[in-house]
Amino acid sequence: MGGAITGMRLQRGDIQDLLTYYQALGFEALPISLAAIRNIKQDVEAGTHGVGRKSLLEDLKEYIGDCQRCKLAQYRTNLVFGAGSASARLMFIGEAPGKEEDLQGLPFVGDAGMLLTRLIVKMGMRREDVYIANILKCRPPLNRDPEDDEISACREFIEKQIRIIRPQIIMALGRVAAQVLLEMPNLRITSARGHFFDYKGIPIMPTFHPAYLLRNPKDKILTWADAQKVMAKISSLTARRTHS
Ligand code: SF4
Repeated sequence: MGGAITGMRLQRGDIQDLLTYYQALGFEALPISLAAIRNIKQDVEAGTHGVGRKSLLEDLKEYIGDCQRCKLAQYRTNLVFGAGSASARLMFIGEAPGKEEDLQGLPFVGDAGMLLTRLIVKMGMRREDVYIANILKCRPPLNRDPEDDEISACREFIEKQIRIIRPQIIMALGRVAAQVLLEMPNLRITSARGHFFDYKGIPIMPTFHPAYLLRNPKDKILTWADAQKVMAKISSLTARRTHS
């Protein structure tokens, strides 16, 4: 990663801005390549900030690398970073990869993933319009609940993804994702779903995990109600931004 900055046309102020930005994202070291600096500068000049976010996500992926920060590293086939649009208005966040996700290295690709895709389409979007990730990047054995030490080791990565993408809204898929993001260990998904909470200024809607809905299809109607509230919120936030 990285390389000499010699020969670049970046001004001192550009570099200062980049350093300040990375510091705001929570990086303690500078995980940025020379190519990424060039991309970001071009994106800023062209006004295409989504591409800059894409570079930042790629840098974060490189920063995570072959992560060994918790015991889940020994069980994984693939680390599942996340997928979707770097400039997504809507982010879906689950708790951890399952068997299919671990095998493919992609989030929500099994039966639960197909159900999530159907929900996204029903909401009038495509999978590539949103961003999908998990709190944990590696699969817990037998899909058990994540343990506290694993969450502590991994949570900085999802926090950085959120800070880079800056979505208008987050949908937390399932109890664990909602508990971790909202730091509410006693949160019950049955009572929290359907209500907006706040994650560092971003509205977050807890809802049922698609895997739960596969086992309890009668509750799909509740998740659809949650999704409709999210769509209305995105519309109102977009309208407010347009008129400001
Ligand atoms: S779960 Fe997170 S912290 Fe643990 S090894 Fe995987 S990427 Fe690293």
